[in-house]
Amino acid sequence: MIELRGIHKSYEMGSNKLHVLKGIDLSIKEGELVSIVGSSGSGKSTLLNILGILDTYDQGEYYLDGKHIKNLNETKAAWYRNQMIGFVFQSFNLISFKNAMENVALPLYYQKVSRKRRNIVALEYLDRMGLKEWAEHTPNELSGGQKQRVAIARSMISKPKVILADEPTGALDSATSMEVMNLFKEINREGITVIIVTHEHDISEQTNKVIHLKDGFIEKIRINTPENILANV
Ligand code: ADP
Ligand code: MG
Repeated sequence: MIELRGIHKSYEMGSNKLHVLKGIDLSIKEGELVSIVGSSGSGKSTLLNILGILDTYDQGEYYLDGKHIKNLNETKAAWYRNQMIGFVFQSFNLISFKNAMENVALPLYYQKVSRKRRNIVALEYLDRMGLKEWAEHTPNELSGGQKQRVAIARSMISKPKVILADEPTGALDSATSMEVMNLFKEINREGITVIIVTHEHDISEQTNKVIHLKDGFIEKIRINTPENILANV
């Protein structure tokens, strides 16, 4: 599903260069539930943004579902993102003047689905998240957990193969974090690959594979056994 070979990424900072990823090799199979951990500044978001085709890389190779993701123009990149990837962010990234249903429906707008149809589908996804009654509410009327469930519904609506989540529980209390994590596990059980960046041990311990980033390299990859995961729920 995801193949990275020797990925390097630097940021230009005036005359300085910040070398963030220094040769990342990584394979993630379809249907895996993976976390990426590491201290702040270790390059987790940089790596996730490359996986999500939100950013480019300087060196190496990236294959997503067999497609070579390199030197894509913005139209092509947007098309792959829309077809294959759902995003969830720490800060929810909902549009404040649109209601929950319209926020969830947004990816279908880009796919030129009619308003009527996309609102029907958005309601189905909100219902799955237990939020049907909140469809007409704007984000500022929702709790953090509700906002994140709206964002998860939005990430699901275009039936992506991969969901990428950057610190999705970073702004939530621990009980709500567990609810959100349970949703990701449920989504993963349907066969969708889920990759979660987190610095919370409780979260990473519930994923099958934990990728540790340090100083621009993968320091280690740890496999969690089902027994381990159960013990941490
Ligand atoms: P993490 O998500 O693990 O905290 P990031 O991937 O966000 O780390 O950042 C890794 C390093 O790259 C940090 O030192 C950060 O300041 C720097 N960085 C991230 N994005 C940019 C950017 N757009 N321009 C310059 N430096 C950046
Ligand atoms: Mg980050």
